[in-house]
Amino acid sequence: MLEASGLMVFYENMLALNNVNIYCGENQIVGVFGANSAGKSTLMYTLSGIIEDIRKKEEMAGGERVNILGEIQYLGQDITGLKPSQRAKKGIVLCPERRRIFKECNVMENLRIGGYLASSSQAKNTMDYIFKTFPALEKLKKRVGGFLSGGEQQMLAIGRALMAQPKLLLLDEPLLGLSPLVQAVLVRATKEIREEKGLSIIITEQYARPVLPIVDYAFVLENGAAVMEGDREELMNNPDVRSAYFGV
Ligand code: ATP
Repeated sequence: MLEASGLMVFYENMLALNNVNIYCGENQIVGVFGANSAGKSTLMYTLSGIIEDIRKKEEMAGGERVNILGEIQYLGQDITGLKPSQRAKKGIVLCPERRRIFKECNVMENLRIGGYLASSSQAKNTMDYIFKTFPALEKLKKRVGGFLSGGEQQMLAIGRALMAQPKLLLLDEPLLGLSPLVQAVLVRATKEIREEKGLSIIITEQYARPVLPIVDYAFVLENGAAVMEGDREELMNNPDVRSAYFGV
């Protein structure tokens, strides 16, 4: 489904991604684990194309130079030169770190904004699906985003991404700062969404423990480089991964 090779991103002279090769198969969940500043968000920006917007913005503001190298193949096509909006139309949808919902808009408005690419029947079906997956959100349809709890905001952020009809959903640290109970709800929902919607999902997290049980395959990023990769069992049994990302 997606294969990225030789990805390198420099922020001025700082190397944020160092020759990363990553792939995600059809209907797979692929994990990307790494500490703070390992390059997880930069990787998600690069796959979704948003890094190109960051580069242009920096260039216009006369700020640091952002350089991007590498190649991304998606559904048998080279999408390296495509804008984020073109990638979104092809089904690559980013659910960004720290949720980034529209805080002044209510739940329904946030979902409708996410569904601007969808037909009205797709939007309606997806909304029904979101409320079935996250019943807590259904009771909060009219509440503004800023008054939702962290967990509810994350459910809304995932819902908004689903409204864009993804084929490949990029979840950037969806569990960040949430309680173990809410994390468990979100992990279960992620697995269900993959099964019921037939999506592929790339999920980044600092800690592997909560998500490793649902991934098919995972990569470990350190200082911008993919230093380890393997399927779930390989990584679960790897002593380095256990000590660094499980705290055992
Ligand atoms: P976190 O868990 O803290 O979000 P991360 O793994 O997502 O970390 P990135 O946000 O991709 O890591 O950052 C990778 C490196 O690139 C960090 O050293 C960060 O400071 C740097 N960086 C990220 N964005 C920019 C930017 N716009 N300009 C300069 N440096 C940046």
